[in-house]
Amino acid sequence: MIRKFLRKVFSRKTPASESIATLSIIPNKQHSIRRNQINPCALKIATNLQQAGFSAYIVGGAVRDLLLGLTPKDFDVATNATPEEVRQLFRRSRIIGRRFRLVHVMCGAETVEVSTFRGPSPDDEEDSATIPQTDAHGRLLHDNVFGSQEEDAVRRDFTVNALFYDPVKEEILDYLNGFDDIKAKKLRIIGDPVQRYREDPVRLLRAVRLASKLGMQIDAETAQPIGDLAPLLQNVPPSRLFDEMLKLLLSGHSLSCVVELRARGLHHGLLPMLDVILEQPLGERFITIALKNTDERIKQNKPVSPGFLFAILLWHEVLSNWNTLKTSGEKPMPALFKAADQVLSLQHEKLAIPRRFDAVIQEIWAMQPRFEARSGRKPFHLLSHPRFRAAFDFMLLRCESGELSPELGEWWRAFLSADSEEREKLLSKQIAGKKPRRRRSRKKPSSAPLAQPDNPTNPENI
Ligand code: ATP
Ligand code: MG
Repeated sequence: MIRKFLRKVFSRKTPASESIATLSIIPNKQHSIRRNQINPCALKIATNLQQAGFSAYIVGGAVRDLLLGLTPKDFDVATNATPEEVRQLFRRSRIIGRRFRLVHVMCGAETVEVSTFRGPSPDDEEDSATIPQTDAHGRLLHDNVFGSQEEDAVRRDFTVNALFYDPVKEEILDYLNGFDDIKAKKLRIIGDPVQRYREDPVRLLRAVRLASKLGMQIDAETAQPIGDLAPLLQNVPPSRLFDEMLKLLLSGHSLSCVVELRARGLHHGLLPMLDVILEQPLGERFITIALKNTDERIKQNKPVSPGFLFAILLWHEVLSNWNTLKTSGEKPMPALFKAADQVLSLQHEKLAIPRRFDAVIQEIWAMQPRFEARSGRKPFHLLSHPRFRAAFDFMLLRCESGELSPELGEWWRAFLSADSEEREKLLSKQIAGKKPRRRRSRKKPSSAPLAQPDNPTNPENI
């Protein structure tokens, strides 16, 4: 076993893919990255690895972002040291992952990911005959074979993500012309686009997300097969799709990403109804306003709850199922709960929204009819609900998108900021204004639509 592993690491045949790489070294004075921009923890790790005789570089997104004048989200280190060798050098470190083993090195409260250079999957017949390397659609099943630095560059996704920054020599190693692509703002996939998307269809989504986030153009050859290959997303494990979708929604560019996904036909595999929703004027307005708000919050470093986001993206699907159920004679609240279940179970299958988000999503939806009940103690009960704030923000978005009357949002805003005397006044105004309707609706409670302010159905009793 160990011998086989060593043979893989040290005596593999030269892969054909190497031919597409030629090394250019960009010296310090020709690029804009300064050592003091590197996260101190990543800097220390790379320097220590080099002092121990290994090669070690800052790689991927951080180098790209710094060259573009953006603040990197995280700093990753790539090295020719094996995970065990890295583990031995840093006391506070641990090896993680089974299929893709890397090392988490901790400094203070920070963690930096250190990965060993990867090469292409084994190409000798013995291995590929016994262990399948791809699935029937060409998707790579293994990515854990160590390789040279050059091979590591080639197996990355886009040229702009394949740059290595040496923090000691302060130079950039560029095997794939990524430096020029950054200057030209071109997002170009490495190698044959169709083959690379087949190997890992998540790259289809990464192309859209990175182009939006970085303000780059997707190169024509890289963009061309995207629409045709969209069905490959169905073969991606739902948990990976969910992670990528979350990255996309929390990128600070969610609106342009969703618009691009739709334009390129990639949204089917993610949110099956997005198409239909965006074609209804109210649905489109609702999602557009909500995503714009989300992007704004991210830019201001305010927290965004994934549960809230999914509640938004799926709301108009719930509304449509809810209406169908009500039209077929179901009572409003049970119909709402049923519609929520239908929508969530479909999404569990497709997108693997983890069940831990279900409670938040369902509560936000279930609280919506209660905003329309503005009499007696009901508004006070609603106010004391632990999820009130999220449900309130959600209701305001419904008003803003035209689904509800703006008056409802204004009333709640006033109620929220009022003192107890003013609150009583607001409540009595409501009762005075709504009396005749209330009597009518009491006569026929089962047919009263949920949008009526005095809907008698109390969701807490259901
Ligand atoms: P972000 O700013 O969102 O973190 P990133 O490019 O750093 O963008 P990561 O998911 O952190 O994205 O990945 C780090 C690096 O790993 C990438 O820059 C790229 O070189 C490589 N990589 C990530 N995903 C893939 C993939 N699906 N196929 C090939 N290489 C990948
Ligand atoms: Mg990253």
